[in-house]
Amino acid sequence: IADFSDEALQRAVDEAYAEFKDDQRGENADYIPILAEVPSDLFAVVIATRDGKLFTAGDIEYRFSIQSVSKPFTAALIMNQQSPEVIREKIGVEPTGMPFNSKLALAVYEQRSVNPLVNAGAIAAVSLVEANDEAQRWELIHRNIEGFAGSELAILDEVFESEYSSASSNRGIANILFNDNRLYADPEESLRVYTMQCSIGVNTRDLAVMGATLANGGENPITGERMLAAEDVPELLAIMATAGFYDESGEWMFSAGLPAKTGVGGGIVAVVPGKFAIAAFAPRLDEAGNSVRAMEAIRHISSALGVGVFGAN
Ligand code: GLN
Repeated sequence: IADFSDEALQRAVDEAYAEFKDDQRGENADYIPILAEVPSDLFAVVIATRDGKLFTAGDIEYRFSIQSVSKPFTAALIMNQQSPEVIREKIGVEPTGMPFNSKLALAVYEQRSVNPLVNAGAIAAVSLVEANDEAQRWELIHRNIEGFAGSELAILDEVFESEYSSASSNRGIANILFNDNRLYADPEESLRVYTMQCSIGVNTRDLAVMGATLANGGENPITGERMLAAEDVPELLAIMATAGFYDESGEWMFSAGLPAKTGVGGGIVAVVPGKFAIAAFAPRLDEAGNSVRAMEAIRHISSALGVGVFGAN
């Protein structure tokens, strides 16, 4: 891409990696028991550009569960199958200012599940996918995420087993939504497919390409496959900008200035619209469930290259 040389992009990645490699702050997620067992010192940083170049550092091949980083991409699928308006009408686009698994948010916003990037809205999004049965619902969601990543992605079975067998909180959310006519398929089916979606294994490179597809106006820069209409990309990025970090979304935009999405597996992808994506992975999380080193690395790159969407941060 014109604005930055290959050397400048690689240098930014290398600096972010070196600066935060030994940062020990935070803890692995453990409410999904198996996530506590992921080696905590893993760390990877990747930039993927809209013309398909990759700049990498660290443990970029390690496969971790995508978790909530999947959520905007299933929202994109609904935009494709139906429209951005359906997201607004049937889920909502309002940030909650509350934790990702909040039930209070459901009571406060009675008419909407709030937004597709918190658990309630994401389970509702899974239920909104137009499918004849559970197998097809999963197939469409899985294939869509593979298309954004430009690679074949398998479920991490141990993560699925661990999460689905301890999913009482999300099951409660699905049932509240169903009771309020804000879930559009069977609650247990929606919960199961949502949990499968969160258990998809990705590496940091996959996340970067998923983000680069959004940076490239919805077309995957590696495979050339169109994943989202160019005119729908701004709406999706707007939701990421306002709600991608749950009750830390304001802090994130204040400090990094980029639309992004985190997951409790330790992955984060941020988008510099029209230019590139920055993905990072490190398992230790802060109180809000966001990866400490992944946030630091992305902030560092955003600031070093001056690419915050509101100007140089
Ligand atoms: N699958 C996780 C859950 O439902 C996703 C949460 C996250 O990544 N923030 O709790």
